[in-house]
Amino acid sequence: MDIKKIYMDADALLEGHFKLSSGNHSQFYLQSAKVLEDPKTAKLLAEELAKEIKASGIEIDTVCSPALGGLIAGFALATALDVRFIFAERVNGEMSIRRGFEVKEGEKVLMCEDIITTGGSAMEAASVVKSFGGEIVGVAALANRGFCHREGSDIETKPNCKLPQDIPFFALADFTFEMYAPEECPLCKDGSEAIKPGSRGN
Ligand code: ZN
Repeated sequence: MDIKKIYMDADALLEGHFKLSSGNHSQFYLQSAKVLEDPKTAKLLAEELAKEIKASGIEIDTVCSPALGGLIAGFALATALDVRFIFAERVNGEMSIRRGFEVKEGEKVLMCEDIITTGGSAMEAASVVKSFGGEIVGVAALANRGFCHREGSDIETKPNCKLPQDIPFFALADFTFEMYAPEECPLCKDGSEAIKPGSRGN
């Protein structure tokens, strides 16, 4: 499955000058929501990811995503794995699990994002799951930005990866384009201004 082609066909791999949520700048931005707006594509991607996860043999009771970015991918993956789906959300900046969702002691939970960059949000949500006694058995995402090692890829884990190294990370593809600290950004040096994705209709 050619994930890059799927993102490009959906106009979800944006080229320009972007300010990422980490504060870094990049020439590219992945807008997974655009890929997932077609439920058939969402289903197809989730089934492909589920196949890989099932082949690994890990046991999963529940998929949990951090809102908002991970919701659609997580729901589609839970459907493909035929397990429960819950989500964590930020309230006043703090990740929490609300809406009557319960996590049982020893429940095996797979964290799911649309894209893993350093995995920070996924791990914040995971720490809430663990505080209820849940066990994090793996992490999954449609795409990997290349900072963390995923199953089946020869990309090695970078120091800023926040995913634990003792559980598997599954993703369909690596997107390893460069990110720059603002003061070192060549696009800024060329005189253009970084925009926040979403701020101008993207
Ligand atoms: Zn820049």
